[in-house]
Amino acid sequence: MKIKALKGFKDILPEEAKRWQQLEELIRELLKQFNFTEIRLPIIEETSLFARAIGDTTDIVEKEMFTFPDKQQTLRPEGTASLIRAVLEHALLLQKPVQRLFTIGAMFRRERPQKGRLRQFHQLDIEVLGSESAFVDAELMALADRLFARLGIDVSLELNSLGCPKCRPVYRKELLQFINTCKDSLCKDCQRRSESNPLRVLDCKVPACRGQIDAAPSIQEYLCEECAEHFQSVQNALHNLNIDFRLNKFMVRGLDYYCRTTFEFITNNLGAQAAVAAGGRYDGLIETLGGKAGTPGAGFAMGLERIVLLLEQQEQKEGAEEQAEADIDLFIAGLGEAGQERAFVLSQELRSMGSRIGLDYEGRSLKAQMKLADKERAAFVLIIGDAELESGKGVLKNMLGEIGGGGKEQEEIVLEAEAIRRIIGQ
Ligand SMILES: [Zn+2]
Ligand SMILES: [Zn+2]
Repeated sequence: MKIKALKGFKDILPEEAKRWQQLEELIRELLKQFNFTEIRLPIIEETSLFARAIGDTTDIVEKEMFTFPDKQQTLRPEGTASLIRAVLEHALLLQKPVQRLFTIGAMFRRERPQKGRLRQFHQLDIEVLGSESAFVDAELMALADRLFARLGIDVSLELNSLGCPKCRPVYRKELLQFINTCKDSLCKDCQRRSESNPLRVLDCKVPACRGQIDAAPSIQEYLCEECAEHFQSVQNALHNLNIDFRLNKFMVRGLDYYCRTTFEFITNNLGAQAAVAAGGRYDGLIETLGGKAGTPGAGFAMGLERIVLLLEQQEQKEGAEEQAEADIDLFIAGLGEAGQERAFVLSQELRSMGSRIGLDYEGRSLKAQMKLADKERAAFVLIIGDAELESGKGVLKNMLGEIGGGGKEQEEIVLEAEAIRRIIGQ
């Protein structure tokens, strides 16, 4: 029996891996501009880290984690908890009072496999630890906004504030009162949630619930003075950056540790509406994980599978034009034993000068090697047979067009790395 990849786990094949590399390059470049540095974290942590950070009663911790049979260790379902654990373990906040960090990697959740939902998925996590400033919140949104603009993805930004441990309980009470007036017509999940985590009722997707919940009181009207001021500052900063947003009183997010600012970037490009980045402020989480009381934090995560999917759609729309770009600069077709030897040595010389070189190692015919060069999307092919070795000049063909104007598609060239490089470029 053939062994296949597990359900919910996906191979990223070479053509798609190229898209991932482009995306990661762009992300790294942009994050450098915003003064973020990378942190690389293990994918297995103590189970209690996630139970504490994400909350015992969340769907993630209750039913979606890949926990080893000894129950002590778990594959990370998200990145923030690990990142904070590492910052605290290595006392990074003592070295620098504000840490601006990002990490990219695989996360694991045992969700019911369905189209586009993977059990191993990839996330970019961006976190700022140690600052309470509303500028930080606005800047995180500005960063995401810039990233989507660079990727050519249409998004809209939705914003809410979840208050703080001081004002949220007041709202919670008010919300519970409202829920009790219509509890019987809410779905089973909502009835359960109204006991454990009533705010989650606000983002129920069941249509019958939606009809009821639309009339729920808005948390934005229950914010304490400090929270209201912070929320206003975030909005002012976004206005000053000309970033459009919509206030959404129903956006509560799944994780218990969010407070104050919470935001989502939504796109319509994926058929249905879908969030492509989400995050917010989590003052209090750092203390929950054993850090100094009152250490603030904010950040967001972006699922990369969806972004890659959007990039793929764009590519298909743009059509074959972009496809013409070469994967390698030169394919050297050596014919006969002596030709192959010369091709082999030249390939190493040119690679050490920085060129991307492809080669045949099996002594194939010229026709077969030309086919291979085509498959590998070589910009040029250099042919070296006995006659070429004797004259010291090989035949250089341009696979994508002409050589140096004049409509010539091939020309003779001295078999020396320097001379070849001058024509094939970098
Ligand atoms: Zn408050
Ligand atoms: Zn519901």
